[in-house]
Amino acid sequence: MSSLDSIVSLCKRRGFIYPGSDVYGGFAGTWDFGPLGVMLKKNLMDTWWSYWVDRRDDIYGVDADIIMNPRTWLASGHTATFADPLIECKACHGRFRADKLAKGLNEHVTDDEFARLGVKCPTCGQETWGPIRMFNMMFKTHVGPVDGEESAAYLRPETAQGIFVNYKNVVDSLYPSIPFGLAQQGKAFRNEISPRDFILRDRECTQMEIEYFVHPSTWETEFEQLLKETDTFLEKEIGLSMSKINHLEVAEKDRAHYSKRTVDFMYQYPGGEEELMGLAYRTDFDLQNIARESGKSMEYRDKQTGETFVPHVIEPSIGVERLFLAVLADSWDEEKGILHLPANLAPYKFCVSPLLKNKPELVQKAKEVYDLLKAKYTFVTWDDSGNIGKRYKKQDEIGTPKCIVIDFDTLEDGTVTVRDRDTASQIRINPEEL
Ligand SMILES: [Zn+2]
Repeated sequence: MSSLDSIVSLCKRRGFIYPGSDVYGGFAGTWDFGPLGVMLKKNLMDTWWSYWVDRRDDIYGVDADIIMNPRTWLASGHTATFADPLIECKACHGRFRADKLAKGLNEHVTDDEFARLGVKCPTCGQETWGPIRMFNMMFKTHVGPVDGEESAAYLRPETAQGIFVNYKNVVDSLYPSIPFGLAQQGKAFRNEISPRDFILRDRECTQMEIEYFVHPSTWETEFEQLLKETDTFLEKEIGLSMSKINHLEVAEKDRAHYSKRTVDFMYQYPGGEEELMGLAYRTDFDLQNIARESGKSMEYRDKQTGETFVPHVIEPSIGVERLFLAVLADSWDEEKGILHLPANLAPYKFCVSPLLKNKPELVQKAKEVYDLLKAKYTFVTWDDSGNIGKRYKKQDEIGTPKCIVIDFDTLEDGTVTVRDRDTASQIRINPEEL
């Protein structure tokens, strides 16, 4: 188990994640991916896409714009209810999420309930609170040159609605057989009152969501199936330790009002258990809202039976940053300084280096091996800095599974040393066999 501090430090030191706008002292709730982080993030997103979309026949991709018609958020309820309880300290004017200032509170906390707990301001220590008010977390902006309420629009708070508004177009153009799913990856924004916990609660995140459309009578079996497939994805494709994942059946009082079943996949992060992803049965809530707001029918006509109905929806939803942090937490051995990333996720598969960089014949031979591997595996890096021990240490920290070293024996018999990240064992092999 590694500490969050150690992960944050590794991320900055090795170029996975930097504080957003770091050169200006950062910007609360924003984080930027560096060269290694981009590679790992892309591998996670590509693995997800390959598993859920490319390798299946029943799930298709869409890619909707971030700024959508504001009626989207009226219909979905976000304009009215996408809000957190905000409380202000009258002494220092610090603003906080009321439900996060004491244990056992939820977002429906009342003034009376809060007052009974005698909570002190975490900044100044006073106990002089203003009233709790609901703070809408959507980022508001203006579209076009007019700066008024008529031109107000929002950065999308979830990618799901970008899928729902395209449901009718996809049915009209592709007419897929039900059940079918629509998948999307993209940015979502929420104006968190107090962003914290590194990339777990940031203001801008990348979501990967599927809306899976089913006949209402089959939702329970389809839900079970998606639950199993999600476990397989997390275990086999991403390589997470399933012992750190807990399926939390969300109680009725904590579920969205329309949902009849939600399972939160909780992960043991270094700071404690947190939601990694969710699987939610959303009924026909969203499609019915869109039908009402748009006046257009969301009915689907079954190809075999001719029955028409509004499909129900099951939604597997995961944040890339949460998955990214889970993978790092699972892989990082703080004591040994080794990042045990699964080979399919590691930014580089191989690192090639000459034993000594001032011996042209070694460098020449190493270049040949590098070119050979680069052509075959693409994700290959070159390192001739410092001594060999330092190179291993660096590659261990960025999770490179194999280091290839070209030494004087290579010049004799053509074999190279292959050093394994996880065991530090070394074998000699012909590079053609890699
Ligand atoms: Zn205060």
